[in-house]
Amino acid sequence: MVSKPVAKRYKGNQINKMDCYKFGYPEQCNKCGALSNVELKLPMPYYNNVTSSKKIMLIGQDPYIYRNHNRVEYVLMLNEEKGQLKRWLGGLFGNDIFSEVELYATNVVKCPVKREPSSSLKRVLSLLRPYFENCRDYLITEINQFKPTLVLTFGEPAHKLFIGILSNGDAFEDRTKEAFTGEFKQAVLGDIRFDYSPCLHIKTYRVAETYGDRIRKFKNHLMEKLNSGSSSSS
Ligand SMILES: [Zn+2]
Repeated sequence: MVSKPVAKRYKGNQINKMDCYKFGYPEQCNKCGALSNVELKLPMPYYNNVTSSKKIMLIGQDPYIYRNHNRVEYVLMLNEEKGQLKRWLGGLFGNDIFSEVELYATNVVKCPVKREPSSSLKRVLSLLRPYFENCRDYLITEINQFKPTLVLTFGEPAHKLFIGILSNGDAFEDRTKEAFTGEFKQAVLGDIRFDYSPCLHIKTYRVAETYGDRIRKFKNHLMEKLNSGSSSSS
């Protein structure tokens, strides 16, 4: 019998834990304690510590994973080489993304929210909102300090909450179904401007035949943005 190789979970080649926090992500949130009945153990934000004119910010929903939330060390588990999202992004962006662009990943809600995996969108949103009221200030700080040139959110709740903090949030459709057009729009937060598109949730993206055309467009625009000299257009 061939023994399985041990998965390398901490590939930390470029990850410097101190640097991950330099954009204002809290080590501990002291505002959500009263809301939560789960341990407020926050995963670290992911930062690849590369200096580039392409500054990509990925925004997930919250750190809670139903089955085993203790294994989330970094937001979106981007530290895991074989992680689902990392492999998928590698396919979408091209694998060089992790070494060539400046990449920062965070969540709209920093604190673990106890929820069931089958929760409806409405229920997820009503659970997340009170946490977001506390945690949104961190997100605003992170955007102001990281100064992304391009932002992607993952999943409908993340998209909805995120556009709520934008100065021009009204310019975006509320539902991912309509907001995910394949095009990037310019988002404004105070003095910061960047390209934004919601990204379909990884699972939706995979099965989304009806999105076929938009996905092609989205990939092409993303490639343009990552390869062009200028970061903000269209
Ligand atoms: Zn919080």
